[in-house]
Amino acid sequence: MAGESIVVLGAGLAGATTVAELRERGFTGTITLIGEEPGLPYERPPLSKGYLQGGEEPAGFTVHDAKWYQEHEVMLRLGVAAISIESARRQVLLADGSAVDYGQLVLATGSRANLGGGNPLAGYDLPGVHTLRKLSDAKALKAEITDGARLSIVGSGWIGMEVAASARQSGARVTVYSSSEVPLAAVFGQRFGRHLLELHQRHGVDVRTAKVQGIEQVDGHLQVLSQGGSSPADVVLLAMGAVPNVQLAETAGLEVDEGVLVDATLRTSDPHILAIGDIAQAMNTRLGQRVRVEHWDNAIRQGKLAAATLLGDSESYDWWPYFFTDQFDLGMEYVGHNDPGDETVIRGDMDSGEFLIFWRNSQVVTAAANVNIWDVNDELRAVLGREVSAERLADPKIELADL
Ligand SMILES: Cc1cc2nc3c(=O)[nH]c(=O)nc-3n(C[C@H](O)[C@H](O)[C@H](O)COP(=O)(O)OP(=O)(O)OC[C@H]3O[C@@H](n4cnc5c(N)ncnc54)[C@H](O)[C@@H]3O)c2cc1C
Repeated sequence: MAGESIVVLGAGLAGATTVAELRERGFTGTITLIGEEPGLPYERPPLSKGYLQGGEEPAGFTVHDAKWYQEHEVMLRLGVAAISIESARRQVLLADGSAVDYGQLVLATGSRANLGGGNPLAGYDLPGVHTLRKLSDAKALKAEITDGARLSIVGSGWIGMEVAASARQSGARVTVYSSSEVPLAAVFGQRFGRHLLELHQRHGVDVRTAKVQGIEQVDGHLQVLSQGGSSPADVVLLAMGAVPNVQLAETAGLEVDEGVLVDATLRTSDPHILAIGDIAQAMNTRLGQRVRVEHWDNAIRQGKLAAATLLGDSESYDWWPYFFTDQFDLGMEYVGHNDPGDETVIRGDMDSGEFLIFWRNSQVVTAAANVNIWDVNDELRAVLGREVSAERLADPKIELADL
């Protein structure tokens, strides 16, 4: 193993975590990190929150500084995309014509913005129409979200709602086009979705239930076309979800479904290739099913697990999925894996803004979230997978630890 060459393709959070963990665990062979973005790997959550609002700067959310990569002898090939994986020769071909040999390869190519499936939304490429995945996207969007600017957001998922909150805080006039009456209700249930909707409405976000048919430019001005007619906008964000970057994996002949199929140690159908982070549809031993998770915590934990697998340490994907969000004065952590139809149980007073949500399926707690209540996530994790009555879950007199 010591002399082996490990190549990590995709210099995002998952990839950067893998290289750090390899050195942390004592790997002394060659490590190369390849990424098409020009800068050092960074964390993306601030792009829709602190960075967009102006409080956070890239230096604060860069995973490691340049000196770290030098000191840990990690070769960086940044600003160049990989164009194919020659798995028989164990080689990655890059857009600049060079090739990088690997003993083992970790794919961590992340996601890109959904532009509307096979048929992109009309007008997606007009000036003033943005998506948000990269620092360069966030820079361009931030420059246009000025006091009084009319921002239209297509999509009411996490990124759409976070940007809506950040833009209101910058004084923009914000309209969100939601395909459902209540944002996120299809996944998290009506009660929480309505809470989020009302939070945004209280802060002056105009949330409309309407399917957007396209964006037009009329006399140099943007118009958003929806079932409700045509509305002017100065800037538009397409926030219609993300699509995993699995093309390289597919053409390399790896098994791919909704993501790159990997086992509980993150190995793909090729024994020399692993896949992690947003692209991995991984066997979760706790859930007993394959899941693909597009969240920050998953990128870190799978980044570490990949290093363990590469070094022959016996670990597996056995943790509950977790994510967080921040919107206006709402901060929330979620842990678990609920089905859209699961029953929701609230503990606390939603009107106070501080409460817990539990999801249950056949008496069993499938997921839990803490909203503006902190340092309880470990206790919530302990309840997951257990049968607990709705009455006990909702009763604030029963300590979480006693559930
Ligand atoms: C705006 C935004 C806000 C978010 N907020 C939250 C949040 O609040 N909470 C939360 O839990 N999660 C959040 N997330 C999700 C979280 O950031 C992602 O799940 C995480 O970044 C995934 O890490 P990754 O390394 O798998 O992929 P990425 O971070 O997407 O990195 C993949 C990298 O691979 C590169 N790449 C792709 N193809 C190639 C190629 N062919 N050659 C070379 N390089 C390539 C990409 O350019 C990219 O740099 C947010 C995401 C975004 C975009």
